[in-house]
Amino acid sequence: MKIVILSDIHGNLEALNSILHFLDHEKIDQIICLGDIVGYGANPNECIELIRTTCDLALIGNHDHAALGHLDISYFNPYAKKSVIWTGSVLKDDNRQYLENLPLTAERPEATYVHSTPHQPRDWSYIFTVYDARLNFKFFTTQVCFIGHSHQPVFIVLSPQGEIFVQPPPHLELKEGYRYIINVGSVGQPRDGNPDSSVVIFDLAEGSIRLVRLPYDIAQVQAKMQQAQIHPFLIERLAYGR
Ligand code: ZN
Repeated sequence: MKIVILSDIHGNLEALNSILHFLDHEKIDQIICLGDIVGYGANPNECIELIRTTCDLALIGNHDHAALGHLDISYFNPYAKKSVIWTGSVLKDDNRQYLENLPLTAERPEATYVHSTPHQPRDWSYIFTVYDARLNFKFFTTQVCFIGHSHQPVFIVLSPQGEIFVQPPPHLELKEGYRYIINVGSVGQPRDGNPDSSVVIFDLAEGSIRLVRLPYDIAQVQAKMQQAQIHPFLIERLAYGR
């Protein structure tokens, strides 16, 4: 069984299509989306419709929640705020309904899934430090937890002796007694200095996790965003992956 985990599409249809096209050629059993389908990008409805038809499970992210009008966006940066309001205004009713029904977390036999953190999924906090990681390992019981939200792919390992360290992607073999928090990065707005889309393949038979980076037509996305009058900062950052 192979499961693909993706996150943070942010209305970037070209990036999502590039991932789905790649997956056509891989033997994949399930696709799981960790949220932030919308926000920032020019194609929120199209991205929701693709996620609806291709994913076996999808969770809600803070931008999805905000676009529905359920989140106080006063702490969002001005670009995020404007794009959330725009996204909310163009969402079709059935897509809005779909987002409304997405769960916050999912615990399945093979792993736990959440957009932000297993500790406080509703607070939309981040796992950036060893302290954050140690705390969060206490809030799920499976060997692996997949997260998104920071747009930066990271493999965090907890050893049987209680040490926490980061294993550089792209490949990880699961080892008995070890536990893992896997940040799958972002499909539509990577922020780790690499503009290519990010996605993770979890091979249950092999007991392995692989990070895949895929290029897409950034110029085409930027042209569309210009037409939608999205702020230049959000348009330019795609090219740098920042
Ligand atoms: Zn996001």
